[in-house]
Amino acid sequence: MTSTGVVDAARPCVMVDLFGRRISYLRLSVTDRCDLRCVYCMAEDMTFLPRNEILSIEELDRLASAFIALGVTKLRLTGGEPLVRKGVMDLFASLSRHLGGGLRELTLTTNGTQLARHADALARLGVRRVNVSLDTLDAARFRMLTRRGVLGAVMDGIRAASEAGLKVKLNAVALAGTTEREVFDLIHFAHTRGMDITFIETMPLGDVGVDRIDQYLPLDELRQLIGTRLTLIETGERTGGPARYARVVETGRRIGFITPMSHSFCESCNRVRVSATGVLHTCLGQEDAADLRAPLRAEGGEEALRAAIAEAVRAKPRGHDFVIARNGTPALARHMSALGG
Ligand code: SAM
Ligand code: SF4
Repeated sequence: MTSTGVVDAARPCVMVDLFGRRISYLRLSVTDRCDLRCVYCMAEDMTFLPRNEILSIEELDRLASAFIALGVTKLRLTGGEPLVRKGVMDLFASLSRHLGGGLRELTLTTNGTQLARHADALARLGVRRVNVSLDTLDAARFRMLTRRGVLGAVMDGIRAASEAGLKVKLNAVALAGTTEREVFDLIHFAHTRGMDITFIETMPLGDVGVDRIDQYLPLDELRQLIGTRLTLIETGERTGGPARYARVVETGRRIGFITPMSHSFCESCNRVRVSATGVLHTCLGQEDAADLRAPLRAEGGEEALRAAIAEAVRAKPRGHDFVIARNGTPALARHMSALGG
């Protein structure tokens, strides 16, 4: 790293795990809080972490910069809802110094409710793509699924992002009884606006107050349904994440499928996640955790911080083993909002 904290692009990636997987993608949660309470993600009466346990904007910057110095080339800010975190735009502004250095992509996953007022600034700061989560186009169903959200705000956000020149990708969690009814409308909505759309199988993370098996819709089933009206061609393309893509002949655009439940993708996993409290999780589906907040806060801790990251990455678990069973307890007590997907 140079004295300005900008990372040298020529620096080799030291983050290779015991299975030979090269870790180049960090998803950093900047808050566990959110303005929505999606039924598959959170309980209605979520208890959030005390604010003093959450890393400051300056600490988040130092942490992300350490990962970039070690070889991370793609950084996604997530949450909770990243755009409700106070100071998050200062963090984007500061992290953007690495673009053109070691960092190739700075991006975010958002529920879109605050996107309308931030889209221009994000584009100015070098963000090129944004993932927006959208499970339904029906305002009443949106309110029910998010337990409080206003669909119009998300629509405004998507429009503002496109107008600002951001490439938008939609993410929809596949939910039994809901997604089957809307899948063609969602694809039409995305593809006629030049956006790809990815469907995600719901994962059993955290108690959300409903039985997961009633929510779970295997993507093989959804894919079969899509195939009754549209022609899908496997592309083999990857965008650095876990999605596998098929192209729709009739629209020319892509549909992604993320299938952690029915088909594991762990063998090619290049990702690690850090919670807003500075805990590194090298697998979304395992309990493994390494505290980075202590080395981050220790005097002159940059070396210790990098050593702690490298050691935890080396021991990244081979993969997850999610199972959804009726009345089953969650695979992990941790909610998705703690790590941001
Ligand atoms: N609040 C932002 C959003 O909703 O886009 C970012 C955080 S959210 C936890 C990231 C992604 O995880 C969203 O696309 C959301 O739909 C997805 N997600 C949340 N809970 C999930 C679960 N139990 N299984 C699968 N995906 C989930
Ligand atoms: Fe909030 Fe995103 Fe979780 Fe929905 S999925 S409750 S928007 S963190």
